[in-house]
Amino acid sequence: MAEYKIAVIPGDGIGAEVTKSACAVLEEVAKRTGNSFAFTEVLAGGAAIDATGDPLPEKTLQIAKESDAVLLGAVGGPKWDALPGKQRPEAALLGLRKGLGLYANLRLAILFPQLRSASPLKDEIIGNGINIMIVRELTGGIYFGKRGIEASSETLEDGSPKGMEAFDVETYSEGEIRRILKVGFVLAMQRKKKLIVVDKANILETSRLWRKVTEEVRKDYPEVEVEFMYVDNASMQLLRRPSSMDVIVTSNMFGDILSDEAGMITGSIGMLPSASLGDPGKPGMYEPVHGSAPDIAGTGKANPLATILSCAMMLRSSLDLAAEADRIEQAVQDVLAQGYRTADIAEDEKAQILTTTQMTEKVIEAYRALA
Ligand code: NAD
Repeated sequence: MAEYKIAVIPGDGIGAEVTKSACAVLEEVAKRTGNSFAFTEVLAGGAAIDATGDPLPEKTLQIAKESDAVLLGAVGGPKWDALPGKQRPEAALLGLRKGLGLYANLRLAILFPQLRSASPLKDEIIGNGINIMIVRELTGGIYFGKRGIEASSETLEDGSPKGMEAFDVETYSEGEIRRILKVGFVLAMQRKKKLIVVDKANILETSRLWRKVTEEVRKDYPEVEVEFMYVDNASMQLLRRPSSMDVIVTSNMFGDILSDEAGMITGSIGMLPSASLGDPGKPGMYEPVHGSAPDIAGTGKANPLATILSCAMMLRSSLDLAAEADRIEQAVQDVLAQGYRTADIAEDEKAQILTTTQMTEKVIEAYRALA
């Protein structure tokens, strides 16, 4: 039996409430499997600024690095909004990503059939539900390329001066592309063996390199069916046939945009889990997509399901407990099928609205009830 070390970063706002729920579910996993979880709670974000003056204290990063996985609530809030860039709570996220070498961001856009009315899409498009894993490259591309702004001495066709001119450069190396593609292929193997590589290869040189590397990497995963899709088409297909899409892998900027679009079509931010991964064997970081929701912090209204589902991703990707991940996802579905909702996902007055703690208890009950 294993003992898994989990660094827990509650963060700010509802972060403490939802990570507490997720840890309670993990305790149940421990009971069922005979493994154990050693949780170490550490500070980051606004809570860390208040306690130490630093959004990411060295101790937090050290404990995160020594863990098998990191569970993060959310950071930020109005109290710290006036601070300059590097002293803001969000600096902790960048520091954690960099310190842990996390280059793959996985966002699961999941719409359970029970919540179909939350989606802005029509019933016939949703089909039996939506379950798309978007793998976004996190540390390269245009967001980290050369940038600058300078005065141009040139003119436009009509003779008027160009004025200031700014540039942001998209750069990708074969190595960076290969490692993120591997994450995509591994996930495709764990799921439906279908992988969509999103790019703009009709225009961008970097995209053409992505395609070349894909052709090499796919040889190691012959069972995976690969589809190349231009990003403009992908943004349309997400609205036209989302239920037929499974794993999407793409660059930093395209992934940023498409994962928000995919999240929106599921309609409920309180339901969306995510993971950030580095090299195999290194700790991954798992967190809900939502923020610290300061407007509902401390009211018991926070939906814990995104964080609980993030733990399912943790069990599958970092702890080799895929069967328990499946059970947690099933337990969440069962609770929704029984009509239980937190306020953010309650579609009508018939819903039985639960607090954060009550919802967590229902998931635990449903998990216990599974064979
Ligand atoms: P938010 O996701 O915190 O909240 C947006 C809306 O969704 C709010 O009305 C909130 O009440 C609701 N909501 C969010 N999660 C919910 C949940 N689990 N259950 C029920 N309702 C939920 O986004 P925001 O208001 O733009 O940001 C608030 C703070 O969070 C900001 O300081 C922002 O910088 C930070 N933030 C942090 C992260 C992160 O830590 N990864 C991500 C996004 C935003």
